[in-house]
Amino acid sequence: MSESDFFSNNLTEEERELYDRQFRLQGWNQSILKNSRVLMVGVGGLGCEIAKNLTMVGVGHIDLVDLDVIEHSNLNRQMLFIGAKVARPKALAAVDMLKKINPNITIKGYRSSLEQLPPVLYKKADVIISGLDSMQARLNLNTQVIRFNKPLVDGGVNGYHGHIYTIFPKINACFECYSVSSSESDDMAACTVVGIPRKRIHCLFKAMMKFEEINSNPPNVKNIKELKFLKDNANELVEKFGFEPLFEEKEIIQIIDHHDPGIITINAVIASIQSHEVIKILNYIKGNKGLGIPNKSYIIYNGMTARFYHLDKPRNDKCPQCGDDVLWEDFYLRKDQPLQLIIDGLKMKGHNLDSEMEPIITIPDFNSIRELDLQRTVLENRLFPLSLLTISGFTEGDIYVTLHIFKDKTLKHSS
Ligand SMILES: [Zn+2]
Repeated sequence: MSESDFFSNNLTEEERELYDRQFRLQGWNQSILKNSRVLMVGVGGLGCEIAKNLTMVGVGHIDLVDLDVIEHSNLNRQMLFIGAKVARPKALAAVDMLKKINPNITIKGYRSSLEQLPPVLYKKADVIISGLDSMQARLNLNTQVIRFNKPLVDGGVNGYHGHIYTIFPKINACFECYSVSSSESDDMAACTVVGIPRKRIHCLFKAMMKFEEINSNPPNVKNIKELKFLKDNANELVEKFGFEPLFEEKEIIQIIDHHDPGIITINAVIASIQSHEVIKILNYIKGNKGLGIPNKSYIIYNGMTARFYHLDKPRNDKCPQCGDDVLWEDFYLRKDQPLQLIIDGLKMKGHNLDSEMEPIITIPDFNSIRELDLQRTVLENRLFPLSLLTISGFTEGDIYVTLHIFKDKTLKHSS
């Protein structure tokens, strides 16, 4: 025990009692975990297990993010919701249970989509860990981890298989380094708002977009009226662009309300490896190499044969997200200044406007594209401090801008 921090002033007597068995581990340092902050994205089958592990092991600050509410079918895998009411936000119910499990740490819950989450939470995290079930959510997260240079420990399960993969930005591959094979629901996300549908599935996606535009919320396929709206609008496009057969209600429900099969045993295997990699990374980046080197390969687990496979994923330096040619800028504006100043500022910095197109600013989002109004202010465009913007219309290609919002009256910009 000589090399551990068992008698560190940083720890209370209660913590010394609680973490007694961990102190006996070779190379262990409880203070590093206590002073760490982890952002956990997705509190479902994997997320519940991971959050439980990180809480019990004593990570000092955990932020939990999930947009969903508890459903009855969650209760045979997601132990943090036992005793909680169905329809309660998962992120908040999880916090209540985790505080009971370990009252010595700080845990905060956010019922939010990734797109609406204040970006400062990504910035403050030492490590980000995800238990997401969609590729588009992973792609949105990918943009943030590359921008803030944070390790992302991702995991996924499907039936009796699972994977673990940690992105170390600019060291190994990010989710955009190679084109991703996509399922039908991911194909929907790849279809942009503009342009004509290229596949049958895009017709349904466009019907969903139309619904969201009118109602400002996604359609609920369990509502007969909303389902009919989707069917009518999708089939109008199917007929117009010749993608028959027409959609039936059952197919629409299967596509939109899609759920992968899942079992707690496979979740627990994958979640445990993810959790332990987080512990290793926290130690490693804070100078303690005693727990081993964090894994950089893509690990696949086959529950049928109980075998693990490792694949190398080298970074692609031409990647549209983490590649060497991607342009990143920082920009400072006050809340009452219009976004046009960003375009003007980029011109002043030597970027050249493309004479063929008008410059536009969008929020990068793989679910839907939101175009901002250049003549309106930061406040009117509902932007957060550290909002990420994509600026199109310069000859060098798209430019990613991190927006800093400050209070005094001077306008400045720097890279
Ligand atoms: Zn990449």
